[in-house]
Amino acid sequence: MKLIPLPAFTDNYIWMLHDGQAAWVVDPGDAAPVLQALAAHSLKLQGILVTHHHPDHTGGVAELRNATGAAVFGPYRENMPEPLRRMAQDETVEVLGLSFRVIEVPGHTSGHIAYYCAAMDGAPVLFCGDTLFSGGCGRLFEGTPAQMQASLETLAALPGGTRVCCTHEYTLSNLKFAREVEPDNTVLADYQTHCLALRAANVPTLPSTIAQERAINPFLRSNQPTIAASAQRFDAAQTANQGVFATLRAWKNQF
Ligand code: ZN
Ligand code: FE
Repeated sequence: MKLIPLPAFTDNYIWMLHDGQAAWVVDPGDAAPVLQALAAHSLKLQGILVTHHHPDHTGGVAELRNATGAAVFGPYRENMPEPLRRMAQDETVEVLGLSFRVIEVPGHTSGHIAYYCAAMDGAPVLFCGDTLFSGGCGRLFEGTPAQMQASLETLAALPGGTRVCCTHEYTLSNLKFAREVEPDNTVLADYQTHCLALRAANVPTLPSTIAQERAINPFLRSNQPTIAASAQRFDAAQTANQGVFATLRAWKNQF
C-alpha cells in the first residue's frame, strides 16, 4: 500500500492511499492535484474521506465525484454537500481491504472526525484533518478548549507507532512555538533540527507518529510542570481560570 501526501494550495496535503490500481484520498480541497496523481499512476479513484466541512478540505469533492464516481464519506454532524455517507463514532469504512474506524474529535469544528486503521502494512495510520498537527493542534473555530483537549487525549492514547497524517504542513511554525513553551526539551530541539532539514529539501515533515507527538507537542503535554510554568508566565490569570491547555491555545493564536 502506498501512502502519499499530495501538496495542495500553499500548505495543505491531500493524503492518497493506493494499491497500484485503486486509490482513496482524504480531504481533497482541490481536485487538480488528485486528478494529476491518478493519471500519473494510472489509478482509479474509489473513495473520498472527509474530516470536516472547511473548504480547503472539501473544495474538490464534487469535481472528483463527478469525474470518477468515487464514494464520499464524511462527518455525521456537519453541514456538508450531499450525497455523502455520514459517519459517526466507531463506524467503519472499508478502504482497499482495510478497515478505518471513525473517531469523533470535536474542537476545530464541532463535528470533526478522524479515521484510524489499526494495521496497514504492519503499522496503524491516522487521518486526523485539522485536529492534531505535528507540534501543534487546530484552532478552535467551533469547539471549546476542553473538547479539543479531550479529542487530543483520545488521539494521544493510540499506539505510539501510529502514523499521523495531518492535513497541513505547519510543523516548523508549530515547533518554533513549542520551543518557546518548552525550551529545555532536547527531543523537541532535535526534532526541530530534523524538520528544518526536511523543509530545506522541500520534503514533507509528515507523517509524524503518536510517540513523536507525545514527546514534543505542547498540546499533548500540558500536564508537564515546565509547560504549566510557561503558561503561567504568559498569562497567570488565564492559566488559573481556564487551565494550561486553554492558555497555550490562546498564546499560540497570537504568537
Ligand atoms: Zn479546517
Ligand atoms: Fe484546513
